[in-house]
Amino acid sequence: MRKVDFLLVGQGIAGTFLSYFLQEAGYEVIVIDQFNPHSSTQVASGVINPVTGRQVVTTWLADEVLPFAWDAYQRMGAAIGQQIIEQSNILAFPPSEQMMQGYQNKLQEANAYVRSAEDSYQNYFHYRHGVVEIAPAYLIDLHALLKGWRNYLRKTNSLIEESFDEAAVQITDNDIIYVDTITAKHIIYCNGVHAYQSKYWQNLPHSLNKGEALIAAIPDLPAHRIYKFGITTLVPWDEGQWWVGSSYDNRFTDAQPSTLFRERKEAELQQILKLPYQIVDHIASIRPATVERRPFVGMHPQEARVGIFGGMGTKGCSLSPFFAKAFADYFQYQTPMHPAADVQRFQKILSR
Ligand SMILES: Cc1cc2nc3c(=O)[nH]c(=O)nc-3n(C[C@H](O)[C@H](O)[C@H](O)COP(=O)(O)OP(=O)(O)OC[C@H]3O[C@@H](n4cnc5c(N)ncnc54)[C@H](O)[C@@H]3O)c2cc1C
Repeated sequence: MRKVDFLLVGQGIAGTFLSYFLQEAGYEVIVIDQFNPHSSTQVASGVINPVTGRQVVTTWLADEVLPFAWDAYQRMGAAIGQQIIEQSNILAFPPSEQMMQGYQNKLQEANAYVRSAEDSYQNYFHYRHGVVEIAPAYLIDLHALLKGWRNYLRKTNSLIEESFDEAAVQITDNDIIYVDTITAKHIIYCNGVHAYQSKYWQNLPHSLNKGEALIAAIPDLPAHRIYKFGITTLVPWDEGQWWVGSSYDNRFTDAQPSTLFRERKEAELQQILKLPYQIVDHIASIRPATVERRPFVGMHPQEARVGIFGGMGTKGCSLSPFFAKAFADYFQYQTPMHPAADVQRFQKILSR
């Protein structure tokens, strides 16, 4: 029987960073993950954007989370021998005069994350209301990160590549036992949308949200920036290719790429772009979003050895490193969890 401190379920961005920070704190960790090319992290564009929405507001905890993310991805990159983060500011082309006004108002704030940009993109795009720059914004190479950390887990004998079966978990007074081969002090669910099928977490107020993207070859578009037109963002992807998304659909019936999305996004792309392009792929996934738009982090109020690290919604790239470190500190130093993220706020619902 293998004895560890933590058994983590899932190696998306959440499980990747939680295993990283728990190991760094000196804990022994095993991760169970069955590779899924359509998981949320695999399909995401990897952007960390400090400004969101039509109201042009600073995202939750941006002043703390952004510098933390920069540092955490640099360190993770060093651990796996890859550069996985770069600063890639966002050029935002507001779709209306009203929205441009929102950005102009934001420019006046201290720590606005918005600044004026040179209006020199007429050769590439059709736009009428000017352009502003969101800075700093970061771009994460999620595929390199997941693959690199997976290899590290494999080499250190810390990965089980199979489907997790909740029915095979036994909770005793002192331990978690999994399929009679692993004993752990704690089990933490980092399995994205699948956590909501767990008997421990099914009552949480989740609000799953489907997102899709087209992958387009646009070889003549300069790749030093991210370009944003309302909810449509063009993000550098593989060589000469761009991730073009997204959509936010919480009434979806399946997780497949849809014809409707493809037709709409392609029509938009034709309106935006002055350059030739070719669609080479179409991808979709479900975001583990929550009703309150805040993550679920912490231990179950009824089962002290069972925890969750999820509910990252549209912000997995920035929230996962920050709250993974907070969760590791909770175990190592008993540091209280941020109350807005602590899953104990659902004590009543989880005790039913
Ligand atoms: C179209 C789209 C664009 C996005 N763009 C961005 C963006 O630019 N920036 C940003 O910050 N966020 C973005 N997101 C959101 C981001 O993807 C999520 O917040 C984040 O990836 C969630 O990570 P996770 O690790 O919780 O879940 P997941 O990525 O889903 O990982 C869960 C892991 O658990 C594994 N697993 C599940 N069940 C089992 C089981 N029974 N047995 C074994 N393994 C299992 C899965 O295979 C997977 O590897 C986007 C999402 C979508 C869909």
